[in-house]
Amino acid sequence: MPATDNVMDKLVSLAKRRGFVFQSSEIYGGLGSVWDYGPLGVELKKNIKERWWRSMVHDREDIEGLDAAILMHPKVWEASGHVSGFTDPLVDCKQCKNRFRADDPRIKGTPGEPTAQCPVCGSKGTLTAPRMFNLMFKTFMGPVEEAAALVYLRPETAQGIYVNYLNVLQSSRQKIPFGIAQIGKAFRNEITPGNFIFRTREFEQMEMQFFVKPGTDSEWLEFWRGERMKWLVGLGVRAEKLRFHQHTKDELAHYAKDAYDVQYEFPFGWQEFEGIHNRTNFDLSRHQEFSGKKLEYLDVATNERFIPYVVETSAGADRTTLVVMVDAYHEDEVEGEKRVVLRLHPALAPLKAAVFPLVNKDGMPELARRIFDDLRKYYNTFYDDGGSIGRRYRRQDEAGTPFGITIDGQSTQDGSVTVRDRDTLKQDRVAADRLVTYLAENLKG
Ligand code: ATP
Repeated sequence: MPATDNVMDKLVSLAKRRGFVFQSSEIYGGLGSVWDYGPLGVELKKNIKERWWRSMVHDREDIEGLDAAILMHPKVWEASGHVSGFTDPLVDCKQCKNRFRADDPRIKGTPGEPTAQCPVCGSKGTLTAPRMFNLMFKTFMGPVEEAAALVYLRPETAQGIYVNYLNVLQSSRQKIPFGIAQIGKAFRNEITPGNFIFRTREFEQMEMQFFVKPGTDSEWLEFWRGERMKWLVGLGVRAEKLRFHQHTKDELAHYAKDAYDVQYEFPFGWQEFEGIHNRTNFDLSRHQEFSGKKLEYLDVATNERFIPYVVETSAGADRTTLVVMVDAYHEDEVEGEKRVVLRLHPALAPLKAAVFPLVNKDGMPELARRIFDDLRKYYNTFYDDGGSIGRRYRRQDEAGTPFGITIDGQSTQDGSVTVRDRDTLKQDRVAADRLVTYLAENLKG
């Protein structure tokens, strides 16, 4: 059964126990809302990113890949509007020193006025009036800390794509419509981060910007909405936990013509983890204006010149990882004993199989080692000879490993092993020399 109570607490604890996610700099007390991916977490997130990359770049002829640097010319962020507009209104409580976004729904009344009440300590009239706070991290380039060398850590990967749009177009000989995909780190000095890896100050984005002829943009938005939902369902995420939220006029960014959030029903409510936006020609027009470089496209067939419209799909790799983990988290009972199991899609599972000698004697460890060495040439496999077989199964259930392979007394006689399915608990007897084929057939999808 999917778990329902305290799922986030349980997931955070499992993530640490099994090595998915650790708090950054934990031995120093941690760094606020920054997280590190452990041995299993790095595999899970990498599998998600690889699947995204394959679906965007390798499976399609009309999308090219890019890996732009995190540091960019500071003018990029003036052109994009981030220097002047990437701000959140910030409110402090003078009493308890807590900090909020002014639009925090828990605040009763208007911050700055005597009637407004702090949602944490309950004091009245202690909330400051909102101050605008820029979310971009600043740093200095060069040895002297002077304003001239001020640069920003990028708050989104998209701008790296826009400023390279002509380079990619010309070098790849693509024609419009075409897209550029990129996976990379982004940084936002969020005022109210939280919910584990949902909102962090350093995160990874998987963004694809699709350049189209003006007038065809709405059609392409619809196309990408369909594609992205298919992809997410293909990750094994339950369809009933996914929905689109179309931005209302008030929610739309000033440059956007239409926008949808893809939301998942997290234990803390329906929340966005991907955005699909019609960004019009805003970004390219602004870069043309600020750089003085022509960014028009010439349609050779019609001899028309235009600045392309952009339809963007912008997903958080960390938030998608959280979606996948929350959706996979199940609790059930096996032979009267409670177990926690991550029912991860086999393609996403960090480990595909684990190999267990039933006991550490009678030739079983030697055979198990041989099988393990063979399998790991093809699949990320784990070897475990510690503790009872039940406990070893439980550990792999929590890691989301689809198959447990046990080498027992019969194995040393006839070369067959048992393969236990994580979800159905069904055990198959399989010849050891057929294991690679068996896994290939059963890990598909
Ligand atoms: P939110 O409203 O939650 O702050 P946003 O609308 O600002 O998000 P976008 O700028 O559209 O988000 O970014 C696209 C995606 O990047 C988001 O859907 C999310 O998955 C991811 N993302 C944005 N900010 C963060 C963050 N602070 N931590 C983790 N992921 C993030």
